[in-house]
Amino acid sequence: MPVINRIAEFQRDMAAWRHDIHRHPETAFEEKRTSDIVAAKLTEFGLEVHRGLARTGVVGTLRAGTSNRAIGLRADMDALDVLERSGKEWASTIPGKMHACGHDGHTTMLLGAAKYLAETRNFDGTVHFIFQPAEENEGGGRVMCEEGLFRQFPCDGVYGMHNIPGIPVGRFAVRSGPMMAAYDIFEIVIDGVGAHGAMPHHGIDPVLVGSHIVTALQSIVARNIDPAKTAVVSTTQIHSGDTWNVIPQTAVLRGTVRTFEKPVQDFIEARIRQIAENVAAGFGAKVSKWRYERRYPATVNSETETGYAAQAAQALVGNANVNLNPTPAMGSEDFAWMLLEKPGCYIWIGNGDGEGSCMVHNPGYDFNDEVLPLGASYWATLVEQRLARQAGLRQAAE
Ligand SMILES: [Zn+2]
Ligand SMILES: [Zn+2]
Repeated sequence: MPVINRIAEFQRDMAAWRHDIHRHPETAFEEKRTSDIVAAKLTEFGLEVHRGLARTGVVGTLRAGTSNRAIGLRADMDALDVLERSGKEWASTIPGKMHACGHDGHTTMLLGAAKYLAETRNFDGTVHFIFQPAEENEGGGRVMCEEGLFRQFPCDGVYGMHNIPGIPVGRFAVRSGPMMAAYDIFEIVIDGVGAHGAMPHHGIDPVLVGSHIVTALQSIVARNIDPAKTAVVSTTQIHSGDTWNVIPQTAVLRGTVRTFEKPVQDFIEARIRQIAENVAAGFGAKVSKWRYERRYPATVNSETETGYAAQAAQALVGNANVNLNPTPAMGSEDFAWMLLEKPGCYIWIGNGDGEGSCMVHNPGYDFNDEVLPLGASYWATLVEQRLARQAGLRQAAE
């Protein structure tokens, strides 16, 4: 496999680090044990370690040479509320929590790169190794930014990586522009008039109103959005009623919206509300509560940094194994917050497409240990190319 030889030598160590983290999954902002391990390893490798951003965040800093160029490499550390059914020897020891998204692998690959780069220091500049909490749902990346991540650790660019099951091991995918969608949520509370289930003419049925709203919301993407643009509107919850023979007083609809562009996002937010209020009014009901929250922005790669990322991946696995035009995913990523502050690039690394390579967030999922040296080698190559030593300096050093 095309990996850096020195990194291949400690592949077994990396697998052991990952299995240890995998056995002890921790969810949003509770990554105490995991961040202790990360901080201890970075210190052992000889990095300067800073702790406490977003509670459990860790930043390790490594300098070489004299250049004032600096980049950030980011991994996520958190697990999910999923009961593991992988059957692996290193399966979760904490019922109901598991590393179902492979963040144990992401953390390990970045630690592997830190170990190698601290030994070799074949670059000129500063690398900040950013280990963030709470990627899933709670926006730990946003909190790190708000608490001054890039003020304390200035970076010219920031880079992220995520494993993707279904892409073979040894392949990468990356593109300039949108990689992953913005993630919004909405809630609509419909007030009707409760009545006897056998005498509907005495009431206003919020279940019927809600059903019409759910149907009408599907017209937004189908009839209002430019067909060349991409968006999803999904109603994912309907709550109403308690028994067989009562027309309830209220109904609650909740759902999610995914978009890549702000004008599309703005339009959909306004349109959902307009449809909900007007459909309700048409039936004599009322929308008594309306909530729309923009959770994660779209993950948008900048052109220059995508060039660096693609070049590093190509140097490692060859041009044929780097897909430069993958279809953007409608899932979302809180690395997007870092990309709002700094130009950067988020890349996908194949987790394998063989038997049992189930999708992330599935209870049977496991990060593929074969990928560890590839991911660590990608990070190391990116640093050595992006912060390459000047020719004159290199000769002087050699
Ligand atoms: Zn996930
Ligand atoms: Zn993830």
